[in-house]
Amino acid sequence: MHASLMMNGLAVGQVLETRPARHVIRPSRAEAEMAVRTLIRWAGDNPDREGLIDTPARVCRAYEQWFAGYDADPTEFRQRTFEEAAGYDEMVVLRNIRFVSHCEHHMAPIHGRAHVGYLPRNRVVGISKIARVVDAFSKRLQIQEKMTAEIANTLDADLQPYGVAVVVEGAHGCMASRGVHQSQATMVTSRMLGQFRDQPQTRHEFLSAIGLGRASECGNLFP
Ligand SMILES: [Zn+2]
Repeated sequence: MHASLMMNGLAVGQVLETRPARHVIRPSRAEAEMAVRTLIRWAGDNPDREGLIDTPARVCRAYEQWFAGYDADPTEFRQRTFEEAAGYDEMVVLRNIRFVSHCEHHMAPIHGRAHVGYLPRNRVVGISKIARVVDAFSKRLQIQEKMTAEIANTLDADLQPYGVAVVVEGAHGCMASRGVHQSQATMVTSRMLGQFRDQPQTRHEFLSAIGLGRASECGNLFP
């Protein structure tokens, strides 16, 4: 079954509402560090011992990188970076975009890669911009299904192409290190829009390009 089926109720354009609210009031750095001290004590250790004394500050700095996506606007390239496609109307595929995200249920890391394809209508965008969209959404607390849909919907709204395809593979730290302890399992989610959804041939061309073609172990995941 399509993992993306779970997201089919999310219409294009709704992506704006899924972006984090800008009105969230952040605590002070001191408050954040105090919260980390509390979690160290919750784990059973002493935050005042030598090895841990600087840990709250380090964790807060790490958070600034892990969650930089809250300060990024994935749609900001919309006006600035469109280029004329010069008649190019074949599929554009960017594969193996590495990302690290954090699951919103456990705040555990998700390591993965995203594959993005689109069929240009009038314009193309620099591939670094596609990677930046993946980066902006991954550096937030996420569930993989939502992130997959957000990437696809943003590119669809900005590029207005004939279609967008996004496949995300993720290894979830919360599943590998706790609970069912499945360290090898990866989750695959997809969102196919436009011709990628309507035309099986286009979809298979994309899946072959990213190495998830008909004969792969993903077999009937993408009928
Ligand atoms: Zn989790």
